[in-house]
Order: sequence, then C-alpha cells, then structure tokens
Amino acid sequence: MISPTNPQQTRVDLLITATWLIPMDSKDRILTNHGIVISGSRIVDVGPVSELSTLYSAANIIDLEGHVLLPGLINAHGHAAMSLLRGYADDLPLQSWLQDRIWPAEDRWVSEQFVSDGTELAIAEMLLGGTTCFSDMYFFPEQVASAANDTGMRVCLNTPILDFSTVWASEANEYIEKGTRLHDAYRDHERISFAFGPHAPYTVSDAPLQKIAMYAEEMDLGIHMHVHENAKEIEESMHSHGMRPLTRLKQLDLVGPRLQCVHMTQLTDDEIDLVAGHNASVVHCPSSNMKLGSGMCRVADMLKAGICIALGTDGAASNNNLDMFTEMRMAAMLAKTSSGDASALLAWDVLCMATCNGARLLGQENELGTLEAGKFADIIAVNLNTPSTQPVYDPVSALVYSVSSSQVTHVWVHGQHLVRERQLIRMNQSSLLKKAVSWQQRISGNGAK
Ligand SMILES: [Zn+2]
Repeated sequence: MISPTNPQQTRVDLLITATWLIPMDSKDRILTNHGIVISGSRIVDVGPVSELSTLYSAANIIDLEGHVLLPGLINAHGHAAMSLLRGYADDLPLQSWLQDRIWPAEDRWVSEQFVSDGTELAIAEMLLGGTTCFSDMYFFPEQVASAANDTGMRVCLNTPILDFSTVWASEANEYIEKGTRLHDAYRDHERISFAFGPHAPYTVSDAPLQKIAMYAEEMDLGIHMHVHENAKEIEESMHSHGMRPLTRLKQLDLVGPRLQCVHMTQLTDDEIDLVAGHNASVVHCPSSNMKLGSGMCRVADMLKAGICIALGTDGAASNNNLDMFTEMRMAAMLAKTSSGDASALLAWDVLCMATCNGARLLGQENELGTLEAGKFADIIAVNLNTPSTQPVYDPVSALVYSVSSSQVTHVWVHGQHLVRERQLIRMNQSSLLKKAVSWQQRISGNGAK
C-alpha cells in the first residue's frame, strides 16, 4: 500500500488504520476508514487512509479491521500497590474498612518491595484493560515512579501527605519534603508527573494544608485529595472543626483550579457552585463509592455546572479491579439510577470523563486525552468484532455499554507498543502473578514476613 522508496513521502515509524477512529477532539466525531501516523513518542497526523498513504512512508503498518482506535484511558484516581490487598477486606463501610482492616495491614506489610510488586501488578492490569495513564496516591512513590519508568506506563504521582507516622514518613512536613525531592528528581521525565496528595481533610491538619496550597502555587502542581467521601466524614468535620470539609478547605485557600476532589458523594447545591466557581475538578469513582456504601456523586448536576469530572477506579482493595470500561458503565448506570433520568449522563460524556477530562484534570490537555497531531501517542485499539459487541450502530455506545476490557487488543504509550494482540510486550506476566500469589500467602499468614 505504501511505497518506502517514494521520495515525496515523509518517513514515519508507524501507521495504524482501523474501521473506526474516535479522536475525542470534538463532540460525537466518529471517523471511519481513517488512520493515525506516529513517529517517536508523538502523533504526526490523523486522516483518511487514502490521504495518509500518499503522504507517508511508514516503517510499520498495522491494519485493524473491526477495531476502534481511541485515546488511551486515564485512570484519574487509585492506589496501585493496593492491588496486593484485592479482596482482603470486603463488605465494610469506609471508616471500619480503613481503620480496622486496611491501615493495620498496611502498617504490617507495606514496604518498598510491596509497592514495587503491587504497582507492577496494577500496571499490567491497567495496560491490558486500555489504561495508558494512572494517577496514583500511595506510600513509596519512588517505587511507583521506578515501576512506571521501567514498564513504559504514564503516571501522575500524588505524593502522599498525612499527619501521622507511616512506613514512608513520620509527620506532614517530612511527607511534603520527600514528595518535593522526588518531584525534583523526575523533573524532566516526559511520562512521570506530580501533584501533592494530602490524603483527606480528616487526616491532614490546617498548617500542612496551608503549606501545600503555597507550595502547589510555587511549583505549579495540582492538589489531589479524597474529599466528602461519605456522610460520616462530614459529621466528624462538623464535630471537630464546626464546619463541612469543603468549607474548611476554602478557608485554607485550597479550593481553586489546582484542586482535584476525589469522590464528592456529599454535596449541597452551594458546594457545587463553590467548586464550579473556583474551577476545581472532581474525580468520580462509582465502583468504590457503591462498594463502600459511601454515597452517590451528583455527576449530572456538576457537569451542568461546568465542572471538569474525570473517572477513577480507586484502589483494587475497594473496587475490586482497575477496569476503566467497567467504571464507565458504572458511572453511566449510577447517574441514571440516582436521578431517575435515563438521559442524565450520556455515553459520550462518560467517554470524555475517561479520556479528555482526565487529561484536563491532570493539567496535561495539551499532551494527552485526544488523538491529534503533536500530542503524545497514547492510543488503544478495541476489537468490536465479537459476539457481545456486534452489530455496531454506534461505537461510543459499544465502548460504554457493551465492551469488556478483554477486547482491548493493542496499547501504545508514548509511541511505545506495550500490548500486542492482548499480550504484554515489556512485562513478564507469569513472574508478576507468582509474586502476587507469594504476597497473598504471606499476608494470609501462610508464610513468614
Ligand atoms: Zn482513594
């Protein structure tokens, strides 16, 4: 199809063609018989196959009949290493899940090795399911950075901050210092970015929160935080601070465009106006909210108010997987159920939440989130030619309502082919599964620490 010797053609690394291409650059734009041209880490061109064939000489051509190409999914909130605690504590509300089960287990087991092994397991699951970028909040973020660097994955590290001592740091100032040092070490890394990750209003006191607001401004970084996760959080804040958590964050100068509020299941109309008015953004984690019985995020009302909402799985200990296709479906269903309105959240809006909104929330909308020339080549291919997705009247409907993550066949991050024909290319799947089994045996008490 393409002559490699034609001197009129520009030499490029790769041309991918597919039956459908959804660039996510403007509403409801679905292209057929289009392709995408890649050189190095970036997208060079998107256009009709006939046009691209005359303009470019590609070293590699991949033709994906029956597939849809779209931007890699962005998992905007999680705790990757907690994949090693998948299924460890179920059927509990947030506070007892954390205080009685998760925090004691973390105290006993979390180490550099735990984070390294758990993060690699999570990265493997996410890549195979079409996620090309994840936003993470966990201890030993240096291990998460190293895992992302080695595997080719893209990550935003929300370096954790808590008032109390854990395996990683002893008090809030030490967390902040360690986080900023790590940020400096990876300053020029194109796949690893940073934000401050104060855990929640109930675990970080006023002075460090004010310091974070100041540093975030100076360093031009986001602030990623669990906010208004369930009703008990609000009650406790009323008891200890005499005000709701969002009011307190506002007083501490944290509510602004840098703030990424995760969960937000308890919101008054005034609070929606506050978030919208200050251009703060929200990460919706429907599976985790449902599983912990935390409540329902007013996604439709917030979208109407113009708030940027991205989608996250949360950790595998409260989901219990990192599957963004399931998360999209859950988001759509929950919005319809909670509002009694089948049009409350459209399939297109859900797909935006998992792609371009995620990029916007991370402040990386100029590099990620859509398939456009000049952006990083984070691309996934999904096979729609299966009994559970045919016939295809609308590929967006298929992606949100019918597709299973196992239909993701190819994944590119930063122009690197990381999943081919549903197989991980760079990672050794059997070795990371063995490590997961070994951790389960140790944590279950069948072996020594
Ligand atoms: Zn979380």
